[in-house]
Amino acid sequence: MSINIEFSERLKALPPYLFLEIDKAKRAAVAEGRDVINLGIGDPDYGTHQHIIDAMKKALEDAGNHHYAFDAGLPEFRNEIKTWFSKRFNVELDPDKEIYPLIGSKEGLAHLPLGIINPKDKVLLTDPAYPAYRPSIEFAGGNITSIPLKAGNDFLPNLDHIEKINNIKMMLINYPNNPTAAVATREFYEKLVKLAREKEFIIVSDMAYSEVYFDNEKPLSILEIEGAKDVAIEFHSLSKTYYMTGWRIGWACGNPTLIAALAKVKSNFDSGIFQAIQIAGIAALKSDPLITQDMRDLYQDRRDYLINGLRGFGWKITPPKAAFYVWAKIPKGFSSSMETAKAFLDKADIVVTPGNGFGENGEGYIRMALTVSRDRINEAVTRISKII
Ligand SMILES: *Cc1c(COP(=O)(O)O)cnc(C)c1O
Repeated sequence: MSINIEFSERLKALPPYLFLEIDKAKRAAVAEGRDVINLGIGDPDYGTHQHIIDAMKKALEDAGNHHYAFDAGLPEFRNEIKTWFSKRFNVELDPDKEIYPLIGSKEGLAHLPLGIINPKDKVLLTDPAYPAYRPSIEFAGGNITSIPLKAGNDFLPNLDHIEKINNIKMMLINYPNNPTAAVATREFYEKLVKLAREKEFIIVSDMAYSEVYFDNEKPLSILEIEGAKDVAIEFHSLSKTYYMTGWRIGWACGNPTLIAALAKVKSNFDSGIFQAIQIAGIAALKSDPLITQDMRDLYQDRRDYLINGLRGFGWKITPPKAAFYVWAKIPKGFSSSMETAKAFLDKADIVVTPGNGFGENGEGYIRMALTVSRDRINEAVTRISKII
């Protein structure tokens, strides 16, 4: 008989996984053979570009790539990140002190608090937010203060409110934003950096969707703001940009002390990214910029079909500016995010993500991902028109 095994207090203290119920219902629908349209996935539907796969294949044949990789990665990879960053944001980074490769940006975001947060430190976290942030802050013992993101403020934190909060240790932001698809303005970043310098708090910026934007409005990196490197670390990822979610590759960049903290934590938990994947990452970063433009055109086309289609029968949604999500107020006649998500699944075989899964302020919204073909989006619009 098994001994009595209990989860640790820190694991037990985590909030329940809110998507569980909808996940279960989705699996049941698929098992019944229903033709489910899944607008719930934050993962591109396309495979990785061939030239990246070819670089990986070649690197695999070289036994020199089969061993433990240096934690800080190949200098060639860090240099390529430096070049990419300079071209894209016009920001110069020191590849030895201000760039650190990651096994996907999620692990970096999760590991960083262990290196900088002491028990009871105050951490500002937006609500709604990507669900992966909260557990890492709680594991480090941090105290979370929720900062609401409201449509009236373009889903940006209210900085006048934050100015009145004392003893902030760290604040997490994510633009282009998942789930609200909002972007941050230069003015917002400037005010935030000024505030962080005055009040001496750390800014953690998650830029996983830096290349997924619409209408040619390129999102800014917070590191473009003067003085940002004194307070900020930014997380980047090859996942969404180059259709490489499964490969697990990204990087952190910015303030060298924050990079050093992250590096020290990681050296105790994992080892460097598989070298063949780093070589594939170099090929990705060297890609013709046209391939990311094609990706944007693709999502923009789907976005417009979905938004215009839904508008056709009176469901008016603000078009997203970036990221591949549509963050929509639930239609008239529905009382909650969860009820809407359930009705979409039960009556139209469509999976959407209930907004309250991203935090209390997500209540009243659903998130639809643009990661299915235009035909499927059209089919989804037809089905939705019959139930609302
Ligand atoms: C997808 C996503 C990430 C994580 O990407 P990795 O694959 O771990 O690099 C990070 N932040 C947000 C908001 C995301 O949606």
